[in-house]
Amino acid sequence: METVEDIVIVGAGIAGLTTALGLHRMGIRSLVLESWEGLRVTGFAFTTWTNAWKALDAIGIGDTLRQHHQQLKGIVVSSTVSGLPVSQMSFEIKGKHGNHEIRCLRRKELLETLAKELPAGTIRFGAKVVSIDEANYFKLVHLADGSILKTKVLIGCDGINSVVGKWLGIPKPSSTGRYAIRGMAEFPDGHSFKQKFLQFVGDGFRSGFIPCDQNTMYWFFTYTPSAQYKDTVGEVDPSKMKQFVLQNIGKVPKEIVDVIEQTSLDSIISAPLKFRQPLNLLWPGASYKDNVGVAGDALHPMTPDIGQGGCAALEDGVILSRHLSQVFSRKQTDDKVLEKEEYSRIKKSMKKFSDERKWRSFELIATAYMVGMIQQSSGKFIDLIRDKILASYLAGMLLKRADFDCGKLTSS
Ligand SMILES: Cc1cc2nc3c(=O)[nH]c(=O)nc-3n(C[C@H](O)[C@H](O)[C@H](O)COP(=O)(O)OP(=O)(O)OC[C@H]3O[C@@H](n4cnc5c(N)ncnc54)[C@H](O)[C@@H]3O)c2cc1C
Repeated sequence: METVEDIVIVGAGIAGLTTALGLHRMGIRSLVLESWEGLRVTGFAFTTWTNAWKALDAIGIGDTLRQHHQQLKGIVVSSTVSGLPVSQMSFEIKGKHGNHEIRCLRRKELLETLAKELPAGTIRFGAKVVSIDEANYFKLVHLADGSILKTKVLIGCDGINSVVGKWLGIPKPSSTGRYAIRGMAEFPDGHSFKQKFLQFVGDGFRSGFIPCDQNTMYWFFTYTPSAQYKDTVGEVDPSKMKQFVLQNIGKVPKEIVDVIEQTSLDSIISAPLKFRQPLNLLWPGASYKDNVGVAGDALHPMTPDIGQGGCAALEDGVILSRHLSQVFSRKQTDDKVLEKEEYSRIKKSMKKFSDERKWRSFELIATAYMVGMIQQSSGKFIDLIRDKILASYLAGMLLKRADFDCGKLTSS
């Protein structure tokens, strides 16, 4: 007899694995299809804000990850033009949802921890989805190897170039014209940085340096390639990227330059920065259709300027699994009438998830875009406004957007 999956998730990234683990915690099986032959780790580490830790606690892996990642105590933003601090803010404060918690999390450790908690066979590696078809109440998922899977629910957690998003008619993400170079420096004998997020802005560039623990510093550098820097567009040679960062980092302390110098070439990558036009999220049915939906970057690609894309993907995973659990925790049956009822409940849960996430996604994408634009602009006037008036407002925005609780897995 032909097998029918209840829930197929495309992509074993942050959103896909969080959704699968949320469902598993509630006793619901899902199948995750991943095109790579193993977990795909790009970008080394990322800042995780209070909202991310609420989600990690909801799926039961927060404490495991806390053991290897230092809590950050604050942020210091400095101007690369004057070389002086323009704003400082403590993270040791309370928000609407309790104490703030910010850490720089290794991506590999996050993905491996998520995957380890899932039952064997949940993730199918080397399974690249190439197209999608409909068959009554089901979706047919076509893989690159020619095989076809039949499923009651299809969730695209397949990132910025989502195949599922394309099937839903979601427009391709827009380019910002900006790029980011990211790196991770290891200090086997320990580094001397305090538990602070150090950010440097001005003159068309923006960079950040964050300790993951006593031995590891993660950093990023964002820029807009002007005619002067056009040679760096699409640059894949890490030694050239390193040189480019060292030449353009501006007035920063020597220890910061040392972090870049210390970064090995296999720990540097570059990526273009893209985002979804936030207004595109708002019309009814903009991000789902029947029993198909998207989450994570497939739903809300955003620029990394407030460090929220991955955190929002974690939120999505918890909220989506909560909605789907309400459909699948009911008694299953093969009866045709009930099949129709189940389809209608699935459609409602897709709509509920999408409605619940659209304003949150809108505000995160729009804030990130605005913060990035101001922080990275150059010119005497904008330097003055940013450093004297907007610096504290922009730093405050980071905590404001992080002050969100996606709730527990069960709504009781
Ligand atoms: C420079 C930069 C810095 C960032 N910094 C931060 C930060 O500090 N904090 C933060 O929260 N976020 C940050 N982000 C954003 C964050 O990286 C993303 O939002 C997050 O990785 C999205 O997770 P995801 O699971 O939606 O997608 P992804 O991580 O892209 O995972 C998608 C998965 O789907 C798989 N896949 C794709 N297509 C298919 C297919 N057809 N079939 C099967 N599998 C498929 C891929 O192989 C991949 O494993 C940053 C992003 C960038 C570019």
